[in-house]
Amino acid sequence: MKLLDGKKCADHLVADIAGKVAGYTAAGLRKPHMTIILAGSHAPSESYVKSKLASCRKAGFDGELVRLPEKIAEAELLARIWDVNNDAGTDGLIVQLPVPKHIDKQNIINAIAPEKDIDGFHPANFGRMTLGQKAFRPATAYGICKLLQFYEIPTRGKHCVVIGRSNIVGKPISIMLSNDFDIGNATVTLTHIETPRELLLDETRRADIVIVAVGIPGFITGDMVKEGVVLIDVGINRLENGGIVGDVDFENVSKKCSWITPVPGGVGRMTVAALLINTLIAYQNKFKPG
Ligand code: NAD
Repeated sequence: MKLLDGKKCADHLVADIAGKVAGYTAAGLRKPHMTIILAGSHAPSESYVKSKLASCRKAGFDGELVRLPEKIAEAELLARIWDVNNDAGTDGLIVQLPVPKHIDKQNIINAIAPEKDIDGFHPANFGRMTLGQKAFRPATAYGICKLLQFYEIPTRGKHCVVIGRSNIVGKPISIMLSNDFDIGNATVTLTHIETPRELLLDETRRADIVIVAVGIPGFITGDMVKEGVVLIDVGINRLENGGIVGDVDFENVSKKCSWITPVPGGVGRMTVAALLINTLIAYQNKFKPG
């Protein structure tokens, strides 16, 4: 078993981005600028935002956090998004999810200018990505593809099973891996909470690649996968003792894997790296540096 080391891969990608940014700023251009809007103070969101801002610094970007109160009205949050949409000094905008319960998440996602939508959640980007067109790709799914690419894990012709159908992970990764993309051309089965258990087991036991994003510790057990499987664990589950685990019974499953992502240090790091790549693309689209 070998580890798909998200930290190593992300560090490599961030160093590459930092090199490009140093070139652009030496040529007199401003730095790429990522703005994150955080409404309220949800503990996991605080930690994700911290990690995104730290990665911005490493990449040579300006990272800006706009903190807004938990009780902010939806109309006011939308107005703040439009301000950032119209600010020529910002290249990429993230509204950290989840938004407070009284706010309609989809209205917020739809309000972000598609050309600044580095999370890749806006229907225009998601639709273009689905059609195989140029688009910002949803960051976690894009990060998984970058990780597979870094470790030269083939996807073409492989049987991939995705567990979980969220708009941010399961759905986009299943589309991306089945599309005719560089990292794609797989035969993908998308499973979810309504998939009968026996069908799920049939699928996972013959899969070459399993991608699990359900948010249940220990969901994937050793008897669910075949020898040599590539396992991508997207889950981030916080334990009462403060530890973080994924969706996989790592100790038993890893014995059967050819490759597996650790948690932490796997997909989470890649999500942030993908956000930086998308921000750099947004910046390059604006300035068209050589
Ligand atoms: P979600 O929490 O919105 O939904 C869970 C999904 O799991 C649903 O689609 C549901 O159908 C499926 N599911 C639940 N029980 C199932 C079962 N018994 N059999 C089959 N499918 C089942 O999904 P999400 O937002 O993608 O989050 C999933 C996990 O991934 C969470 O732990 C989350 O924290 C984590 N996550 C990690 C990253 C990262 O960067 N590593 C990014 C996003 C989410």
